[in-house]
Amino acid sequence: MRVLLIYPECPDTFWGFKHALKFISRKAAQPPLGLLTVAAMLPEHWEKRLVDLNVTRLKESDLKWAELVFISAMSIQKPSAKEVIARCKRAGVKTVAGGPLFTVEYEDFREDVDYLVLNEAEVTLPPFLSDLERGEAKPIYTSSEYLKLAATPIPLWELVDLKKYATMNLQYSRGCPFDCEFCDISLLYGRKVRTKSKEQMVSELDALYARGWRGDVFIVDDNFIGNSNKLLGSVLPAIIDWSEERKRPFNFLTEVSIDIADNDELMEQMIHANFSAVFIGIETTHDNSLTECNKMQNANRDLLLSVKKIQSAGLRVMAGFIVGFDSDPPTIFERISTFIQDSGIVSAMVGLLNAPRDTKLYQRLENEGRLLDEFDGDSTVLSMNFVPRMDRSTLIEGYKKIVRRIYASSAYYERVRRFLKEHRPRRSKAARLKISHLQAVPKSVILLGILGKERLHYWHLFFWTLFRRPRLIPLALTLAIYGFHFRKFFEAHI
Ligand code: SF4
Repeated sequence: MRVLLIYPECPDTFWGFKHALKFISRKAAQPPLGLLTVAAMLPEHWEKRLVDLNVTRLKESDLKWAELVFISAMSIQKPSAKEVIARCKRAGVKTVAGGPLFTVEYEDFREDVDYLVLNEAEVTLPPFLSDLERGEAKPIYTSSEYLKLAATPIPLWELVDLKKYATMNLQYSRGCPFDCEFCDISLLYGRKVRTKSKEQMVSELDALYARGWRGDVFIVDDNFIGNSNKLLGSVLPAIIDWSEERKRPFNFLTEVSIDIADNDELMEQMIHANFSAVFIGIETTHDNSLTECNKMQNANRDLLLSVKKIQSAGLRVMAGFIVGFDSDPPTIFERISTFIQDSGIVSAMVGLLNAPRDTKLYQRLENEGRLLDEFDGDSTVLSMNFVPRMDRSTLIEGYKKIVRRIYASSAYYERVRRFLKEHRPRRSKAARLKISHLQAVPKSVILLGILGKERLHYWHLFFWTLFRRPRLIPLALTLAIYGFHFRKFFEAHI
């Protein structure tokens, strides 16, 4: 069997870093981890090729070669996924589709996809493969079972050219113990946190290391610290030993909940293991809105203090914010932008509330007759799929105001300096200058320091860092490049 695995194109998004990738000559932020994991579950003797449309084109000759096409996508990739499926149909090649987009919106694809293999591939792929072998494959495979991750194989890294990507990725856990109203993670992966063993994690790290990867590794879990006892008791010590033996080849980033601020030992171990940044869904600074969406781990806490504690421990905080909750007061826009400035959170994604299909929020809005449309997966573009309580144009204008304020060059660079002033990274990590940083320096001087609108701020930051925190020059330049991406992104979309 000749199998072509296709990953549809992602549009320009806040976290896609499209405008920053050119500084380090990379084509995409991360490879398609889910599809590479599925590839590793397919029979060994099948011939496999990968076409990631974010780094290359899909040629007619690829489709002619293939006997079967596997597609995996998130909701944001829906338009490209539809195009790929149409091309496969025209070329007469059968399609197999799975992953979050197809699992949640399978009704939209029933007619055009030959085999929908939904939910977790560890459960639904084996019966599909054995039916296929007997010539009895059914159009749809689903399951409500959540398997332990012991059966999850190492992704088939040999299918990708690592040099095309800025960051590698791996998964440690699935599921989240929390139950935020707008979130579909517990629908897709359950509320019980399932984790890989320390042996699996070490094998995953070995596999990337053996392929020659050195640099950033994003652990894609929705909440890496969902089971902090296991992390502290076995997994982090194993990562620390692995890392130290190889002189820290990977710099880890991940997503966590804000309660990491309450666990000094966990932060200390993560930093020791070479974690440098964490994404946190802060969502809002208004307690009633946090209660409304059941984000109770964030409510009734000094969020500013928590962020400062995490950043001064040595973890850079990236964060997500949302406006459009029913309980949001008219002052919410001012309050969120002031919070972002005061916290020194450099990468702050602010979005409009939307209701992904089948979430508790979706059901509530449907019952209240307020649902308008399906959510297309990007909350930073100016759309909401329901009728908000606040006047819609006031809300959109307020949202634009936050984005314009926090991504104006003066505010952005001020935030970077505030962060660098308070951030205390481990000494050895800060001292290391990577090749990709070196490549980016001349480009940043030209594009930001000479041609950029932000040139005065860029040089101010450069000399400020040189004299005040010289060890942090690589980080300062990286954040200046991120700022360029955020500015370009919002200029294009707002
Ligand atoms: S903490 Fe994050 S992943 Fe967990 S339910 Fe809330 S939004 Fe979803």
